[in-house]
Amino acid sequence: MELQQGIEALGLSASDEQVDAMLTYLEYLDRTNQSFNLTRIPRSDFVRLHLLDSLVALQVIPKGAGLSIIDIGTGAGFPGIPIAALRPDCHVTLLDSTAKKVRFASDTGRSCGLANLSGIHGRAEMLAHTAEHREHYDVVTSRAVAGFPVLIEWMLPLVRVGGVAVALKGSGYEDEMAGTEGLLRDLGGGAPSVHACVLPGSDIERHVIVIPKVRQTSKQLPRVK
Ligand code: SAH
Repeated sequence: MELQQGIEALGLSASDEQVDAMLTYLEYLDRTNQSFNLTRIPRSDFVRLHLLDSLVALQVIPKGAGLSIIDIGTGAGFPGIPIAALRPDCHVTLLDSTAKKVRFASDTGRSCGLANLSGIHGRAEMLAHTAEHREHYDVVTSRAVAGFPVLIEWMLPLVRVGGVAVALKGSGYEDEMAGTEGLLRDLGGGAPSVHACVLPGSDIERHVIVIPKVRQTSKQLPRVK
């Protein structure tokens, strides 16, 4: 499906310039992927499974300008890059524990005209124990990084009280969430809500799990191995 059409089907809108920035990014991704493994998704599925799948997150990200967003385990830049493209009013930090990936994503994104990006090489659970990053972000996003219990422990400590964690998940998320109420409470998370949608031009069901940060995270969390 064409990107612009897919964006509209998601109830979002993008300028031609924003669409071009994302498509140019995919070209670089495809080229780099031939020598350095950044993604296993085939080129023909990039628009749907990388761009549109990432943009689903924007359906739940608050509208307010000037938000600071961090995408943990961004890999080849998803969902962080498409979010940065459609929300030039927000700053997006890309975080990954593999230096080459985060360097590719932030350098390439910036060269595609996304000035509102920066990259950090590091682990989410380590970053969460630094004064600069702990409870600093309005929004923390992630896709395909870890199972729910690990994920919330990596995400919620980085969210400021009043902000949200936004996790993109396929099916099977209910089982992953079972028994996490106590941990969620210690992390300062409120009750999760699940936003379901179907990817435009497909029958692929996606779930966006939104967790409000309602109080501070317990000092002992996240656990660092
Ligand atoms: N979000 C991307 C990549 C998913 S693969 C996408 O959906 O396409 C998971 C990524 O998480 C890998 O790039 C890996 O290096 C990174 N990762 C794993 N553990 C991490 C941690 N503790 N902190 C930050 N990044 C991590």
